[in-house]
Amino acid sequence: MTDLATLRRPIRDLPDELVSQIAAGEVVERPASVVRELVDNALDAGATQVTVRLLAGGVRLIAVEDDGNGIPQDELPLALRRHATSKITSLNDLETVATMGFRGEALAAIGSVSDMALLSRPPSQGTAFLLDARSGELRPVARSTGTTVEVKELFFSTPARRKFLKTDATELSHCIEAVRRHALARPDVGFAIWHEGKLVEQWRATFVPGQGTTSDAGDALARRLADVLGQDFVEQSVAVQHRVGGVTVTGRAGLPDAARARADHQYCYVNGRFVRDKVLTHAARNAYEDVLHGHRQPIYALYVEIDPARVDVNVHPTKIEVRFRDSREVHQAVRHAVENALAAPRAAALVEALAAGQSPAA
Ligand code: ADP
Ligand code: MG
Repeated sequence: MTDLATLRRPIRDLPDELVSQIAAGEVVERPASVVRELVDNALDAGATQVTVRLLAGGVRLIAVEDDGNGIPQDELPLALRRHATSKITSLNDLETVATMGFRGEALAAIGSVSDMALLSRPPSQGTAFLLDARSGELRPVARSTGTTVEVKELFFSTPARRKFLKTDATELSHCIEAVRRHALARPDVGFAIWHEGKLVEQWRATFVPGQGTTSDAGDALARRLADVLGQDFVEQSVAVQHRVGGVTVTGRAGLPDAARARADHQYCYVNGRFVRDKVLTHAARNAYEDVLHGHRQPIYALYVEIDPARVDVNVHPTKIEVRFRDSREVHQAVRHAVENALAAPRAAALVEALAAGQSPAA
């Protein structure tokens, strides 16, 4: 008979580093996850220009540079700590959170599976400081206002993870997609991506006036969509503008002819955050039901704005999924928004056809 008492091991607190590495398993899947988190942070810091530099698809180096409000020297070590954040202070804040981040996890997690350094200078500080996450060394460096986070040798300490990485070209394309998702939400911010010293993407900022009309915002979005996804996307889509109850849906929906074999040009945002959400994709799909046949995939970029208290963003470690308090309300709003947008050009074509003396069925 086995002695059960000898089999049992005592309960222990895990070392901090290990806790972060475990958390990193959820947040950091590949270089693109790091890019997403670092760009989130840059945007939360009010950056107007974000530059991403990569080596070997991001595996050897990811550096994200911004011109945001920076991190004061004495807070740099805190930025690396788990559950340390400047973005929320209470449960109430969590329910109305407007920033991309709030979990205070990303830098700690990334730092635990890479060789990371933070360089930052807030406007109030005469000089920038660099914190080496491994050694904890803090020293002054030259830098203008803003922050650079450098992540080297991702997963060097966790070879099992490193094995799951694909070719540099594949990792690079995921990194670019991560920036693209941000760029489509923020036409007012400029983005540049460098790989191996070459500029691979550059999207210039369009001024979006704070008090501007929705058509100004629509113009800025159309320009950004054209830059990022191609002029065709804009030419083959119509503006979406719909408001019902507390839900606003804007963006652009592709005409049925623009549908593609793959669902690679479908972007959904909730309060500025890119999400993968069945309610939204299902609603959009429904809107195309009568005009799109077979397995063709519509193209769209849809932006849902809703009272933050009516959507829970704290359901997934990377916040790519959300939970709506009333998903039916959101589903209907999105479906009607897209249906209305698609109906407008069809109505116009009908009027034109009638004016030309053709039968409407032609
Ligand atoms: P979170 O974004 O959830 O707060 P992070 O681990 O991503 O957690 O970042 C921790 C903190 O470090 C942030 O709350 C913020 O105060 C600071 N920080 C991180 N990146 C930047 C940046 N690029 N500019 C200014 N502050 C930053
Ligand atoms: Mg963050």
